[in-house]
Amino acid sequence: ATRVVAIDGPAGTGKSSVSKLLADKVGASYLDTGAMYRAVTLAVLDAGVALDDPAGIARVVDAVDIELIPNGEGSSTVLLGGRDVSGPIRTDHVTSAVSAVSAVPEVRTKLVALQRQNAQGRFVVVEGRDIGTVVFPTADVKIFLTATPEARADRRHKQNLAAGRDSDYAAVLESVNRRDHLDSTRTVSPLRAADDAVVVDTSDKTLMEVLDELSGLVET
Ligand code: C5P
Repeated sequence: ATRVVAIDGPAGTGKSSVSKLLADKVGASYLDTGAMYRAVTLAVLDAGVALDDPAGIARVVDAVDIELIPNGEGSSTVLLGGRDVSGPIRTDHVTSAVSAVSAVPEVRTKLVALQRQNAQGRFVVVEGRDIGTVVFPTADVKIFLTATPEARADRRHKQNLAAGRDSDYAAVLESVNRRDHLDSTRTVSPLRAADDAVVVDTSDKTLMEVLDELSGLVET
């Protein structure tokens, strides 16, 4: 039977790191729905379609072929039309365009269907923004991760530096705040906690502390 652990929340709460570790720990597979929105965004940018052209974006998503292949290291290789785009979907260029693309209803309809299909018959940790509210409203466990904007920007800033990328804390804080504002104020499936979600504030917690707390919720 399908068994879903839904993990939602804004950027920089440690959502991806903890979701992967949690899936591994409880023996579930892991589905990164943000990677799907990022792949569609890359396709839109590659096609030269403007971000303020929802009809153009809808045409791109209609034609697009996205696949997530588990890579055996706890995460997935993202294929766009058979091409590995796991690297390109993480660039700033895609990150700053993704909120506009994911606000287009046709994009959400197609990706939500793909997400439900992917989880069918499996035990899966699904990470995103609308998993507990829209994609799997009857999920077995719903978790909503939060953290202060400063804690979230600080995490992103340190991740950038660790990956050898240039990073400016003030710019990271502004970009995190901008994306969360767009994601929580869009009309379709805005980012919000489901009424029955357990809200976990990760601001002052280590990754391992959050992992322990979440595994407790899944295993009981
Ligand atoms: O989680 P990640 O930062 O990769 O998500 C990228 C973007 O994809 C989010 O900022 C949001 O605009 C969109 N998204 C969404 N619904 C999801 C997952 C991601 O709208 N379930």
